[in-house]
Amino acid sequence: MANKRDYYEVLGVPKNADDAAIKKAYRTLAKKYHPDVNPGDKTAEEKFKEVNEAYQVLSNPQKRAQYDQFGHDGPQTGGFGGGGFGDFSGFGGGFGGFEDIFSSVFGGGFGGGGRPNGPMRGDDLRYDLTISFEEAAMGCEKDINLVRDEECPTCNGSGAKPGSKVDTCPTCQGSGQERVTTNTPFGRIQNVRTCSRCHGSGKIITEPCTKCHGRGKVRVSKRRTVKVPAGIDNGQVLTIRGQGGLGEHGGPPGDLQIVISVKPHKLFRRREDDLYIEMPLTFTQAALGAELDVPTLTKPVKYRFPEGTQPGQVFRLREQGITHLRGGGKGDMYVTAVVEIPKKLTSQQKELLRQFEASANGNQYEKKKNFFDKLKDVFS
Ligand SMILES: [Zn+2]
Ligand SMILES: [Zn+2]
Repeated sequence: MANKRDYYEVLGVPKNADDAAIKKAYRTLAKKYHPDVNPGDKTAEEKFKEVNEAYQVLSNPQKRAQYDQFGHDGPQTGGFGGGGFGDFSGFGGGFGGFEDIFSSVFGGGFGGGGRPNGPMRGDDLRYDLTISFEEAAMGCEKDINLVRDEECPTCNGSGAKPGSKVDTCPTCQGSGQERVTTNTPFGRIQNVRTCSRCHGSGKIITEPCTKCHGRGKVRVSKRRTVKVPAGIDNGQVLTIRGQGGLGEHGGPPGDLQIVISVKPHKLFRRREDDLYIEMPLTFTQAALGAELDVPTLTKPVKYRFPEGTQPGQVFRLREQGITHLRGGGKGDMYVTAVVEIPKKLTSQQKELLRQFEASANGNQYEKKKNFFDKLKDVFS
C-alpha cells in the first residue's frame, strides 16, 4: 500500500475535477490499458487495475471525500484500501467481451447502495478457469464445480419454519425502518435507519426454518458445464447472467464471471488471433528450398520454403490462426524461418564446403556484396 500512486495522478485529472472529467479520463485510460487490447502485457494489466481502483474511489462521492481527507493510509480508508479493488466486484456485470465490457462499465453499472431494505442485486461470483492453448483456440466445454447460495427449498427463502407464525416486527410495524432521535448541541436530529430488530425485513420469525437456520438460503455445490467459445484469450471473462449470488429483498441475482487463464503452448505463440511459430531449416534446405511439414493447430501442413530462404524471413499461412471470437473467419499463421548452421562437421563435410565456397561467385551473396559496396563508398 505504501507506494501507491495518488488517484488523481493515476487518472491525470486535477484535484477539483468534476465527475464528468473523471469519467472521461477513466474511459480513455481503461480502453488504453484494457487486457483485451494488450494481451499478455503485465504492465498494462497493472495499469488497468490501478485505473479501475482510482476510478472506483474518485467516482464515489463518499469514498472520494474520505480519500481527499485521509489519503491511502488514513483511518477511514480501511474498508477499501486493503487491496479489495482490482477484482471484478465493481463491475455491474457483462464482462463477456469487448463491447459488453464497455457498455456495462460505462453504462452506470457502478451504482451503489440503494435503500437498506429495497431490492438489492446479488453479488457477482468469480470463478477462475484455466484451459489449454488448444482449448482456447478451438473452444471447449468444461465442467466446473460451483458453490453458491440458493433459495432454501424448505422455506422458499422466507427463513421461517413452514407452517410457523411470522409476526410483523413490533419495532418498525413492518416498515423495515426505524427513526432514531439523537440530542446534539444543535438540537434534536432525527435519522431513519434500517430496523435493528428485523434487519429491514419488517417481519419477526418465531420459529426459524431448520434447514437454513433462518437465513432463507442454503449453500449448494453444483456441477455445471460451461461452453467456452473458440478464440477466447487469456484474461477474458465469460459472463453467465443470473448465476451469481442471490439478490436481497427480491432483487435480481448477480452474474457468474468466469475468468479465463490460457496455458502457454510449447510451439505456438499468439497475438490477437494470429499464431506465430519458429520453424528450423538446415542451411542447405534454406539455400536449396524445401517442402516441410509445418505444424498448425489441427494438423501439419506442407509448405514450400523457396530457394534462398533467409534467416528470420517470415512466411504467412492464411487462415491457419485462431477462430475470431466474434465469428467471421480466422487469423493467420506466421512462420519464421530459423536457419541453423551445422556444428561438429566431419573432415569430409568440411572439404565439401570448402569446395563449395571456392566455387561461389560474388552474385550469390547479396548482403555481402552490398556491405562491400558501401565500405568502398565510405573509404573512397
Ligand atoms: Zn423491524
Ligand atoms: Zn429455510
